[in-house]
Amino acid sequence: MLLDCCGEIPQLFFKQLFQKFMAKGKKKPKYKRILLKLSGEAMRGKREYGIDPAFISYLASEIAEAHKMGVQIAVVTGGGNIFRGVAGSKRGMDEATAHYMGMLATIFNAMALQDALERKGVNTRLQTAIEMKQIAENFIRKKAIRHMEKGRVVVLGGGTGLPFITTDTGAAMRGLELGCDAIFKATKVDGVYSDDPEKNPRAKKYNELSLKEAFQNEKITILDKAAVELCMRNNLHIVVFNIHKKGALKKALMGEKVGTVIR
Ligand code: UDP
Repeated sequence: MLLDCCGEIPQLFFKQLFQKFMAKGKKKPKYKRILLKLSGEAMRGKREYGIDPAFISYLASEIAEAHKMGVQIAVVTGGGNIFRGVAGSKRGMDEATAHYMGMLATIFNAMALQDALERKGVNTRLQTAIEMKQIAENFIRKKAIRHMEKGRVVVLGGGTGLPFITTDTGAAMRGLELGCDAIFKATKVDGVYSDDPEKNPRAKKYNELSLKEAFQNEKITILDKAAVELCMRNNLHIVVFNIHKKGALKKALMGEKVGTVIR
């Protein structure tokens, strides 16, 4: 032990002191735990329909980078790239059946995302709101929280397991019950605009917006109103950002001026 006065133990002490000093100077992420909503549109990349593995691989890298910052992440996947209940019912299907098919579509996406994340070396757990015991755990709130605390990204498929609602609403519900600091809604535009920026070139982008305004303003459709209402009633913040911009998720997590913050 005495011999160690100039050996390993003091070295370890100085190493730890140095690491503490370095960590002090490092900016911490603004959010500790988030619920990331990835719509089906994000899964199809530039394709018209279905899953784009190359784009999902890109999404997984963005999530992996964010995860490396120490942020706890749960992801809710949409299914609109494969099947939407409303579209099915318009074509004459029984509406509830069509919604269940939509929920299965979200599980396709969730599986693809889990696969891509694991390929990037991220530990994950897939939980579904519809029992699928060969491929996923059932959604269990406390288990999902524990997974995140253990450094696993939790991918949530199957929406809420209930028909007639959307995955946006499911994301707001999960965000609340999992104690997330905010919902991060990934889109293909830079944030929330006063009008559709793809149709109206004069549409103005908001950097910040109140939850009340997002709920009341008919032109703001970036999340469905039921989801916004839930967030408004529970003061859960929403960050809308462009997932196509590399690094945007990381920047938004650091609290940089990216996208639109709805609070
Ligand atoms: N869905 C549902 N209950 C839920 C979540 C989703 O019935 O809790 C169905 C609904 O028919 C929806 C489809 O699943 O149209 C796919 O989800 P969504 O349209 O929200 O996906 P996104 O727009 O995010 O791609």
